[in-house]
Amino acid sequence: MEITPGVHRITDINGSNAVLIVDEQMAVVDTGISGNGESIASYIKSIGRDPRDLRWILVTHFHFDHSGSAQELHELTGAKIVSHRAETELTPEGKSLLIKGNEGAEGPPKIYSWLMGRRGNKRTQEIKYHDTEVHETVEEDDVIPCLGGIRIMHTPGHTPGSICPVLEGPRVLFLGDSVLNNINRLSRPLMWDRNRRRELDTSLRRLRELDSDVAMFGHGPPLTDDVNNKVRGLTDRPYDLPTWKIVLKNWRTLRKWRETTSKPGHWGAGPK
Ligand SMILES: [Zn+2]
Repeated sequence: MEITPGVHRITDINGSNAVLIVDEQMAVVDTGISGNGESIASYIKSIGRDPRDLRWILVTHFHFDHSGSAQELHELTGAKIVSHRAETELTPEGKSLLIKGNEGAEGPPKIYSWLMGRRGNKRTQEIKYHDTEVHETVEEDDVIPCLGGIRIMHTPGHTPGSICPVLEGPRVLFLGDSVLNNINRLSRPLMWDRNRRRELDTSLRRLRELDSDVAMFGHGPPLTDDVNNKVRGLTDRPYDLPTWKIVLKNWRTLRKWRETTSKPGHWGAGPK
């Protein structure tokens, strides 16, 4: 579905949003979990283009629900996998691989798990991680030459090498998991480590200067109205709170989250 000219939210993707940026040479931002490669390739065909015109597979951060199909999409199209260097690790042979892991892998500190009760504490669905080779790393201010330029902002916090790509032709800001779109309002992700909250807050303050018409999120629908005020509103509220205050503030959300993550198939339909 085309959100703004040249920018498509690809349909039928499991795990996260995957966005296609259409130019002579095309780019995809995030891929969802594994098993989405064919869906992305057939979406490209459905708009009358050749999947081999895909040149870049840009991952906002290493989490598997965003990067899980990067390798298969690379194999289907020949496009290069691109991430920030801090999301990669070197193999003994000198190959650069995306770090393996997923959302919530760390879980809350033990005391909070105990307070919230055991229910929903165990992971019922193990994720099978595979190697994802990164062909090119990007840094702050690098520009990928696609549809007027995709400028990279390095926005650590959610992960050390999280990036917010900024499309400068049509003015689209990609927030990955640095910001959640809860439909009624935007919010910052729940994080247990206070230092990381501070780091993310610093990153998000840099977004205040941007002028965007559309914001795309790792999860949830795009935002097309009043984008700049809503993005600035994020850092108007305090975030550098002690963890116990965060827990109290988010008690109900946390309980709900623990119930949903305990259900099998939480990560979408997944690979059959
Ligand atoms: Zn994430």
